[in-house]
Amino acid sequence: MRLLKQHLDLSGSHSESLTKAADGLVSSTSPDGIRAIIQYLISENKKVQTEVNELNNRLQQSQVQIDKLRVSLSDSHRLGMLDAVTSLKNRHWLDVHLPKEVEAAAHAKEPLSIIMADVDHFKRINDTFGHAVGDEILRRFAELLSKNIKGRDTAARYGGEEFIVVLPQTRLAGARNLGEQMRGELESKKWMHHRTGQPIGKVTASFGIAELRQGEEYDDFLDRADSKLYEAKAAGRNRVVVDE
Ligand code: GH3
Ligand code: MG
Ligand code: MG
Repeated sequence: MRLLKQHLDLSGSHSESLTKAADGLVSSTSPDGIRAIIQYLISENKKVQTEVNELNNRLQQSQVQIDKLRVSLSDSHRLGMLDAVTSLKNRHWLDVHLPKEVEAAAHAKEPLSIIMADVDHFKRINDTFGHAVGDEILRRFAELLSKNIKGRDTAARYGGEEFIVVLPQTRLAGARNLGEQMRGELESKKWMHHRTGQPIGKVTASFGIAELRQGEEYDDFLDRADSKLYEAKAAGRNRVVVDE
């Protein structure tokens, strides 16, 4: 979208240059005056050409990126790696990709962190407001997680009301900030039944976070985040606990 806007702005400024030159042509009759206008047009044209080339290159790059995403999305669909309720990547995706991320991070000696998040008292929400409201909350929570990540990060539904956010190239402190941001944003929302408008009140979640250790196995890494999530629950929920 940004590239397209640049394209439009550029053609707008080109039109302005042409108008300016046309105005000049009306008032100027001397050969020098006309020569100056032609020179101006040539230089404007060169400028536009360079910028259009640059934009075309970047549009092509975007196209490649979009194609890649499309392939990855259709692969995920084909291989059953998307969760039907939230449209996030699912447990199957995590089982296939998280070990690869662990291996890649270890190999490149780059940090990798994960956030494990679980909605608090979700059973109570289901029991009080019904399963459809529960599903809606899962979708909104999934959106909140997706909104707060970028680049190579991935939010996935691990199962039930439990989610994992995979954060390549992220140290524990960065993951903690992000978890805290997600926790705070969820807590600050006031929930209402989407059809009846009935107030649901607050929904909170607990977060357990770990950064991959040198030589650590995938399962142990996951277990550490899980045990911190358990600690967050035991300590009263609606909190972030990191494995220092
Ligand atoms: P805690 O704070 O300890 O996490 O308590 P909790 O109630 O969130 O945890 P518990 O594991 O007791 O209950 C999880 C509930 O999530 C039970 C299950 O029915 C519900 N659940 C799991 N998957 C879905 C789903 O796809 N949709 C809905 N609406 N509910 C689900
Ligand atoms: Mg729960
Ligand atoms: Mg749970």
